[in-house]
Amino acid sequence: MVEIKTDTELALMREAGRVVARALAAVQDKAAPGMTLAELDDVAREVLDAAGAGSPFLGYRPDWAPVPFPAVVCVSVNDAIVHGVPDRGTRLADGDLVSVDCGAVLDGWVGDSAVSFTVGRARPEDTRLIGTAYEALAAGIAAAVVGNRIGDIAHAVGRVCRRAGYGVADGFGGHGVGRTMHEDPGVPNEGRPGRGMPLRHGMVLAIEPMLLGGGRDDHYTARDGWTIRTLDGSRAAHTEHTVAITHDGPRILTAL
Ligand code: MG
Ligand code: MG
Repeated sequence: MVEIKTDTELALMREAGRVVARALAAVQDKAAPGMTLAELDDVAREVLDAAGAGSPFLGYRPDWAPVPFPAVVCVSVNDAIVHGVPDRGTRLADGDLVSVDCGAVLDGWVGDSAVSFTVGRARPEDTRLIGTAYEALAAGIAAAVVGNRIGDIAHAVGRVCRRAGYGVADGFGGHGVGRTMHEDPGVPNEGRPGRGMPLRHGMVLAIEPMLLGGGRDDHYTARDGWTIRTLDGSRAAHTEHTVAITHDGPRILTAL
């Protein structure tokens, strides 16, 4: 079932989204070669704590997960696409491609967003991959308008990825957001225009392109049971915003 939010609820979700935006900005600002992934998690926790927000990631355990997620951010480095666990043993190295996914719960409402960036000296191919991931996100958001359908968003995202020669993580995509992090409907990263559920004022969707630099779509789950990595070892990028469909156009709830 797809929940339609009132304008008051959208305003509350905007505040939750703002906390996520602040946490991600702080993490990206602090991230540097030599830092452990757990230290990035600490940075995000401080922002959530200061805002009085909870984490929909911490302790999250879907059916397929062997253990509850132990952190407030996912940190996925290089060939990791999504769901990377920020451990204390892994340190960022010069030129790493880092994707950080963060959620917050404030007054019972969830925000969900992700950024990709490099630390130290960036490889040109990573800069291009990340740029395309943001371009795909922007295209998906632009298609998130009343009168369009879910397939229009999926098509917009997928077209940018494919045109640039990148793979799209098979079976992963965006979702509805509300009082819980994952709600209906699913928002695939590839699809046919004019298909799927019509978009209505008050729907809130997480749009999240996941691009695989090697051009293939396959991935595998690492031994930690969480981290999703590219099968060919190529690098991946992941960007995400929580977006409200409104009569005035798409409203990005997880912007700063
Ligand atoms: Mg997310
Ligand atoms: Mg999401």
